[in-house]
Amino acid sequence: MNKKVLIVGTGMGGLATGMRLTAKGYKVVFVEKNNKPGGRLNQIKEEGFTFDTGPSFFSMPYEFEELMADCGIEIPFEFIELDPLYTVHFKNKNKPFYLFKDIKKLSEQFEKYEPGFEKKFEAYLKKCEQLYKDTVDIVIKQNFDSIFEFILALMKVNPVHLPVLIKSFWEQTNFFFDSKEVRQIVSLIAFFLGRTPFDTNAVYTLLSYIEFKHTGYYNVKGGMYTIVKSLIKHLEKMGVEFYYETEIVDYREKSNMLSSLIDSTGKEWKADIFVINSDAAFFRGAVFKRKKFTEKKLNKMNWTMGYLTAYIGVNCKLPQVEHHNYFLGDNYEEYSRDVMRNPGVLEKPYYYVNLLSKYNNECAPEGCEALFFVCPVPNLIYKKDWSDKEAITDSIIYDFSERIGHDISKNIIYRKVFTPEDWQEKFNLYKGSGLGLAHDIGQVGAFRPKNYDEKFKNTFYVGASTVPGAGLPMAVISSRLTVERILRLESV
Ligand SMILES: Cc1cc2nc3c(=O)[nH]c(=O)nc-3n(C[C@H](O)[C@H](O)[C@H](O)COP(=O)(O)OP(=O)(O)OC[C@H]3O[C@@H](n4cnc5c(N)ncnc54)[C@H](O)[C@@H]3O)c2cc1C
Repeated sequence: MNKKVLIVGTGMGGLATGMRLTAKGYKVVFVEKNNKPGGRLNQIKEEGFTFDTGPSFFSMPYEFEELMADCGIEIPFEFIELDPLYTVHFKNKNKPFYLFKDIKKLSEQFEKYEPGFEKKFEAYLKKCEQLYKDTVDIVIKQNFDSIFEFILALMKVNPVHLPVLIKSFWEQTNFFFDSKEVRQIVSLIAFFLGRTPFDTNAVYTLLSYIEFKHTGYYNVKGGMYTIVKSLIKHLEKMGVEFYYETEIVDYREKSNMLSSLIDSTGKEWKADIFVINSDAAFFRGAVFKRKKFTEKKLNKMNWTMGYLTAYIGVNCKLPQVEHHNYFLGDNYEEYSRDVMRNPGVLEKPYYYVNLLSKYNNECAPEGCEALFFVCPVPNLIYKKDWSDKEAITDSIIYDFSERIGHDISKNIIYRKVFTPEDWQEKFNLYKGSGLGLAHDIGQVGAFRPKNYDEKFKNTFYVGASTVPGAGLPMAVISSRLTVERILRLESV
């Protein structure tokens, strides 16, 4: 008889795990707290507008290709490569920078600010490439059974990278570049990891290689939620069952095995194997009541920042706005040092804007645009009261209007705002931390919450707060590592 696997959560990590296990013949059942699948990769569809709620692009598309190949199917959605990757708008500069993958085209814009830019950028990217190639297979795409094994793996990394380990992302960019424009733009990617260039280790400059040389960034035809819809369609065709509005809050155990999970109505969910896609640290504390994951212990861990996200529908076209755009103020260093902890930074917010309807006409009614704003903010550990969320959103809209030369406030016909409170409440993200646990050296690899349970031999974890970490491609890698663990258990 096929073994039954219960997966708690339909985020990218959960869905990819379901795909791999179904392909191996397991009977898979999902329970999901919300009324829709996808987790942070979700969708708002209201009043003719469609918005992706979280991820708006991704790198390493080959991780999706590998997932589909492992499941014996064609890739069920269409990638759209981003070119330019994004634009960066500085305050008091009337023209934005276009971040092309073509370094010659990039240099034309930067040479004036950073003489010798092309040579410097190539040297920087060479170092990033070495870091990527020397770590990705040894450290990132591996399961580790112990800290000892993890340290052994780290020792295999080329020692030439040791000095990088003691530097911050910002120090590394300062080493290669002199101008504030280039330093700021190159280090922006540290925000993608949910922290700032000042508290992100320089080893993550490998992301610059991924960004400019390796794969670049992609969106999906029809919007990012097409990924979720196509995976659900495949899983349903394979007979997988989904139960929505079902939140797991308790458990039953028998001789070091989890025998069932219990939802908030008291219903018991039995299976042979359990996979938890809910945050791996939070779930251990809140549901399994583990001493290492009490609220006090969780608060001592390092969490990523929160996000204020605004979904705005306007009844006008904005041809001057590109697909992916960053709007920076004039106090980058001060802002970056404060943004994690000091709500005061929100007086002059920095933000990202995605114009989903630029290449996906169906995402807005005719003559309209769907705008998605992401503003990095302190998580609920550092800012508990969000009664000012509309005022913060107004100031973003005001700033954006001024900088694109069009007052959109008069054109707004749809508006919704999520704060860290919403992100916590909807997806059980601890303290509304947008990307889960941070990626400090002490919280990655064997130091991150494990993808197998410490007590229950039939229980595993997948997703951003277990290995390897945050982001869609990482969630897909995470599913491969988790399935490896399950198959290993089965072969004993
Ligand atoms: C604003 C924002 C922007 C982002 N932008 C990008 C981007 O551009 N590119 C990128 O690659 N990544 C981006 N990310 C990160 C990316 O969204 C995540 O890393 C990824 O989606 C995490 O997937 P996951 O598998 O960990 O699951 P999650 O998405 O966290 O899903 C977990 C699921 O489990 C459910 N759940 C939790 N607890 C329970 C329970 N007790 N019972 C039942 N169900 C439960 C939740 O409801 C949820 O559906 C962004 C994130 C945010 C918040």
